[in-house]
Amino acid sequence: MRRLVLASDNRGKLAEFAALLAPLGVELLAQRSLGVQAAEEPHPTFVENALAKARHAASSTGLPALADDSGLCCVALDGAPGVRSARFAGDGANDGQNNAALVRALQPFVDRRAHYTCVLVAVRNAGDPEPLVADSRWMGEVIDSPRGRHGFGYDPYFWLPGQGCTAAELAPEAKNRLSHRGLAMREMARRLAADWGWQ
Ligand code: IMP
Repeated sequence: MRRLVLASDNRGKLAEFAALLAPLGVELLAQRSLGVQAAEEPHPTFVENALAKARHAASSTGLPALADDSGLCCVALDGAPGVRSARFAGDGANDGQNNAALVRALQPFVDRRAHYTCVLVAVRNAGDPEPLVADSRWMGEVIDSPRGRHGFGYDPYFWLPGQGCTAAELAPEAKNRLSHRGLAMREMARRLAADWGWQ
C-alpha cells in the first residue's frame, strides 16, 4: 500500500477521500493518528493555506501528504467570506453566527451569486517543487432564509438553481456527486494516477 497523510482531522473528509483513493492502492492516514498537530492557516488564499497544511504534514511525518482548503465566496462581497468562511462572524463563531453574518453582509445587494471553492494540494515531500493542485467550484446563490437539514456550514442558505433546492436539502450522496469537494477530490485522484503514477 502507498501511504498518504491527510492534513485534516475531519472524519467525514477522511472517509470520502479514503474511498476514492483505495482503488489506487493508497492508504490514507489522518494526521492526528501520526501525532501531527493542525497547521496554522494564516494566508489570504485557499491554495496557500492548503499548501502550508500539506507541507507541514509531510515535514512532520516524512510521508507524502494531501491537504484541502475550502470556503464560500460571494460575488457582491469581492470573494468574502473566502478563507475566513469558518470564522466570518469572528474567531470561534458557530455555523449559526456565520450564517447570520453572511445574510447581514449581503442584505444591501441584489446580486446573490456565490460559489463554494475547494482547493486540494498534494506534495511528495516537504520540499516538493511540483505540488499537485486540484480545485473546483460549486456555483449557487445565497438566500435569506434557511432550507434543509443536511450538510453543514452555509449549506441551508446555499441555493442551487439547477437543482431547485439548497445544498442542505440534498442527500449526502447527491452532495458528494455535485459539490466543490467531490469534484476536486475526483480531479486529484486523476492527477495522482497521471502525475505520480499511482494507479
Ligand atoms: P474547511 O476547509 O473544511 O475548513 O472549511 C472552511 C469553511 O468553509 C467551513 O467551516 C464552512 O464554513 C465553509 N464550507 C466549506 N465547504 C462547505 C460545504 O460543503 N458546505 C458548507 N460550508 C462549507
